[in-house]
Amino acid sequence: MKHIAAPRGTVDILPPETSEWQALEAIIDEVATRFGYREIRTPIFESTEVFVKPIGEGTDIVDKEMYTFVDRGGRSITLRPELTAPVVRAALEHNMLQHLPLKLYYRGPIFRYERPQRGRFRQAHQWGVECFGAPGPEADAEIISLGLDVMKAIGITDYRLEINSLGCEACRARFREALIGYLNRNVARLSETSQDRLARNPLRILDSKDPRDQDVMSGAPTMDAYLCAACQEHFATLRTLLEAMGIRALHNPHIVRGLDYYTRTVFEISSSALGAQNSVCGGGRYDDLVKSMGGPDVAGVGLAMGMDRMLMLARSSGLARDRDGKSLQIAFVPLDEASTRALVPVMHEVRQHGIAADMDYTRRSIDKQLRTAGESGARYAVIVGEDERRNGEATIQNLATRERTRVELGQVASELTRRLEV
Ligand code: ATP
Ligand code: MG
Repeated sequence: MKHIAAPRGTVDILPPETSEWQALEAIIDEVATRFGYREIRTPIFESTEVFVKPIGEGTDIVDKEMYTFVDRGGRSITLRPELTAPVVRAALEHNMLQHLPLKLYYRGPIFRYERPQRGRFRQAHQWGVECFGAPGPEADAEIISLGLDVMKAIGITDYRLEINSLGCEACRARFREALIGYLNRNVARLSETSQDRLARNPLRILDSKDPRDQDVMSGAPTMDAYLCAACQEHFATLRTLLEAMGIRALHNPHIVRGLDYYTRTVFEISSSALGAQNSVCGGGRYDDLVKSMGGPDVAGVGLAMGMDRMLMLARSSGLARDRDGKSLQIAFVPLDEASTRALVPVMHEVRQHGIAADMDYTRRSIDKQLRTAGESGARYAVIVGEDERRNGEATIQNLATRERTRVELGQVASELTRRLEV
């Protein structure tokens, strides 16, 4: 019979690679906690409306990437393509914004209907942080430094951080007008998609990867000329704070990010080592998002980092490779069925002492079992055959020196505890 394959754009993460994921997850937990963020876990699926307005019509995500379906109760459901909107939804639903600042982090799968390729999946994984109630640029700086700390901890050193300011609602309106004027004069040179977007969401064209659009954009007005005094100061202070922390950030006026909810700061971290899908992290400030989702007027800033791409980078620098910890300490080696049964309670007791122990249930020969035990990194083997069983004993073998000792079955756990100094 033909095997069933995983859906296009998804991957199975198998051991030993899962150890790399666990290592990354532990780093995220450690760094986010050290920066004062607490974990939030929201559902994998949400009501479609959670995403449509916040992310914005005319964006790639809402226009063509969402996994949306009608459930059996007739509701429109969407598998989350990102987590900022769900986090805001949850914060509002549970009145979490009554005590500010609110600092949350998350990690888990996201779903986007994309054309699968290297570094681009239909089920991908993101971790991210959101900070609510902190309108000043020090929160933006904290978020960026947190992201870089996680990258450093997993061993990624080859990256580029680019920042920009999109201004507030007022600056953006003036910029939008200037941009629309310019684009209308150059409409014939734009891609079909961008021509279509000109009326719906002109700012999105700044984000286009089509060479025709990029060519038009190279001559377009940029946001910096339209920033109001307050937005200018916010951006300048952010740059000063980053510098004071020794963080190098390039100002790229063309960064707009693929989501509609950003105001003021936006940033991206990318790495040429990733090839075409070079973006590792995106983030920014979203001071109007909470209000637009029916909440109070609370500022927000956050980032989202792709875990799949992070691990590709960590692997390319060779750092994630040896993370498959050889954790087994004791290998139980039964030589027949009755010995297997006799060892079950002994191994149970050993495990209760916090010792990593495993038993070979495959009924293989002693030589094969001992070879596997040696390769597993275990320190001792506990061998029981007919002779040991008749005497109520076990043989403990030091797998490095091959030295053997006989002990009573009832003493195995305490003997191992003593030897391992648990
Ligand atoms: P891209 O330009 O590669 O499409 P994006 O701007 O859509 O990225 P964001 O929405 O900012 O990405 O998501 C933040 C991060 O999540 C990205 O930098 C990337 O590392 C990761 N990511 C997003 N979509 C995918 C995907 N389909 N597969 C793997 N990782 C992804
Ligand atoms: Mg994308």
